[in-house]
Amino acid sequence: AKCGHDGNFSEGEMVPFGPIALNPSSGVLNYGQGLFEGLKAYRTTDDSILLFRPEENALRMRTGAERMCMPAPSVEHFMDAVKQTVLANKRWVPPTGKGSLYIRPLLMGSGAVLGLAPAPEYTFIIFVSPVGNYFKEGLAPINLIVEDKFHRATPGGTGNVKTIGNYASVLMAQKIAKEKGYSDVLYLDAVHKKYLEEVSSCNIFIVKGDVISTPAVKGTILPGITRKSIIDVALSKGFKVEERLVSVDELLEADEVFCTGTAVVVSPVGSITYQGKRVEYAGNKGVGVVSQQLYTSLTSLQMGQAEDWLGWTVQLS
Ligand code: PMP
Repeated sequence: AKCGHDGNFSEGEMVPFGPIALNPSSGVLNYGQGLFEGLKAYRTTDDSILLFRPEENALRMRTGAERMCMPAPSVEHFMDAVKQTVLANKRWVPPTGKGSLYIRPLLMGSGAVLGLAPAPEYTFIIFVSPVGNYFKEGLAPINLIVEDKFHRATPGGTGNVKTIGNYASVLMAQKIAKEKGYSDVLYLDAVHKKYLEEVSSCNIFIVKGDVISTPAVKGTILPGITRKSIIDVALSKGFKVEERLVSVDELLEADEVFCTGTAVVVSPVGSITYQGKRVEYAGNKGVGVVSQQLYTSLTSLQMGQAEDWLGWTVQLS
């Protein structure tokens, strides 16, 4: 199969969650030929189930497959597999407000290789797990540390795709940060070591007056689906949104900082530490009004509590 092209995936089957058999010589185990996605299904108050922008995950997996030299499921195949998996696990979608069903599609080189080469066969799997709300009692701010020793991505690398190795490479910096009491790491670009990139599993935004800025998608950060959605929500609320280089110095001047991602949705940042200096974003106990407003707008769309005027949700039942 050619990199990124539709693979000849077989029909597939629904099996109970459990271990899978893998060839010890598979591309994924030896050369890291693996991609994943993450999305959520929410239950509405009238008991239907909504997916949030699942085509975007299908398209991102296709972009990733091209970069990792893997064949990819078509958007239609991806969507159908996600829908069937969620419907088969319908009872695990928590009631409205109590969480969601997290959906994890995986694409891997499962065929055997010995010399470095793309695997001859690929496997596409989806598993799901109910998850609680990231913030159990209203939004709570997280504390970040800016990392200047480790980088998450380099130009020309794989930072813009959701490949498994990107996550293995941040584990050490994340562990060190957690041991020091921080929630997570904020990465800088590897060339100038001064522009914000993203956090280990979410994108970053800064607010200054009515201008919301976020690092532009230029090949070293993951193009988050929540990021893209928040930009549209913010524009619709009358904010100015700038996608550009955001210097680490701008953290000193910002009114608010927040992160976006499927897991955290919108997460206010309470403090950022850089080269031993800590900047605090007080707002309302660290939850800025803009972060709160965007969180509420996005979650009400995702849970079907606001009119879906952008056609972002897919109703399953
Ligand atoms: N950056 C990274 C590195 C991530 O792993 C994620 C989670 N997928 C995000 C950003 C946020 O992306 P999304 O909003 O699509 O979940």
